[in-house]
Amino acid sequence: MADKLSAVKGMNDIAPPASAHWEWLEDTLRTLMRRYGYRNLRTPIVEPTALFVRGLGEVTDIVEKEMYSFEDRLNGEQLTLRPENTAGVVRAALEHSLLYDGGKRLYYMGPMFRHERPQRGRYRQFHQFGAEALGFAGPDVDAELIVLACDLWAELGLTGIELEINSLGQPPERLAHRQALIAYLEAHADQLDEEAKRRLHSNPLRILDTKNPAMQDLVNAAPRLMDHLGAESLDHFNRLRGLLDAHGIAYRINPRLVRGMDYYNLSVFEFVTTQLGSQGTVCAGGRYDGLFEQIGGKAAPAVGWAMGMERILELLKEQGRLPEQPAPDVYAVVPDAARVPQVMPVLRALRLQGVNVQMHAGGADGMGSMKSQFKKADASGARFALIFGEQEMQQGTVALKPLRGPRTDAPAEAAQSLLPLDAVADWAGRLRGD
Ligand code: ATP
Ligand code: MG
Repeated sequence: MADKLSAVKGMNDIAPPASAHWEWLEDTLRTLMRRYGYRNLRTPIVEPTALFVRGLGEVTDIVEKEMYSFEDRLNGEQLTLRPENTAGVVRAALEHSLLYDGGKRLYYMGPMFRHERPQRGRYRQFHQFGAEALGFAGPDVDAELIVLACDLWAELGLTGIELEINSLGQPPERLAHRQALIAYLEAHADQLDEEAKRRLHSNPLRILDTKNPAMQDLVNAAPRLMDHLGAESLDHFNRLRGLLDAHGIAYRINPRLVRGMDYYNLSVFEFVTTQLGSQGTVCAGGRYDGLFEQIGGKAAPAVGWAMGMERILELLKEQGRLPEQPAPDVYAVVPDAARVPQVMPVLRALRLQGVNVQMHAGGADGMGSMKSQFKKADASGARFALIFGEQEMQQGTVALKPLRGPRTDAPAEAAQSLLPLDAVADWAGRLRGD
């Protein structure tokens, strides 16, 4: 036998029953996005490497070490599996002039790729759901996006997710803060770890984000970006806060919240939980007014967030909020394989009525005993069994046996009854009604 092949490390198959949870989450998200007027945008999984280098910034974690990049064998183009999708959305918006008649509210979902050390809540292929409001200066849409995420937690029945916000101000304000920060860190150079020393002149803001316990006192006392913000930036931030207050949404201002990409300005935010170990950020985003220009387009303000779908599903599991597996309405028990040619068209008629039907599928040696078929019918979770017995079929009927009460696990109250075969579709119509 040939060697067994398995999936690439850090990249997961999503099979039943878990795939049903994914579909449910995706449906919930789509419904919610429609409610807020966001429309779907689908972009390629592969983009030119330059899009991320220019969009995210050369000294970000992602561009420095996490991208799956390769050269197109045929034309030598430098390509990358998308590590995130905000840059792709902006590229597409520019390429198709999506903002020609005003702002656009968009959403996407799909796989992203980052070469990280796989662990709980951190994978090499993972899935993000993202929302982007392009062409709006805010802070109303900033608030809208945050409120939308809060609605999602409520819709999913999740609790214990906390909101942290901060303002990164505008580039000149960040520059002034950066100089103050470098001076401060240089004055305490003996307390910096290797990573901080490396970032001191390339990306000092990221040092504030360090997880190293030995550096916490140092970064806590560091000059704060918030203290370098001018009146306009502060006003934007305070208006956002006012809007969150108007919704009764609680938040914590975290002056050290900086985010991993260079493209952010003004509002940044994260939704975090303590229930997922160290991978506790389930949704993160902010404003990125400079990104359009950074990748060579006409300037346009924008704000968005992305959530890690694996982490949300993990949290749903943790909180016992995952839905039951979907079950068919009807399981068809077919004692005799010779009746299959008559049975299948009846089941098809049922499905055309919108009823979910699972037919017992036989093996090479027939359909199997009634007992084993009923066992399967019960395990399927179906509400009804339709039993195409020989005697009934000869009389043009089929036996209907309730297996459980409507939408519950309760035992069915009614006993078996007979349905004329030509009335099965009528019965199905009524079934849909309740
Ligand atoms: P982290 O600090 O956890 O590495 P990040 O700042 O790199 O996160 P973003 O790029 O902002 O993350 O991505 C948005 C969300 O996508 C994260 O909050 C997280 O929920 C999810 N996410 C990011 N990287 C991964 C990954 N490797 N595996 C699973 N989910 C991820
Ligand atoms: Mg990361």
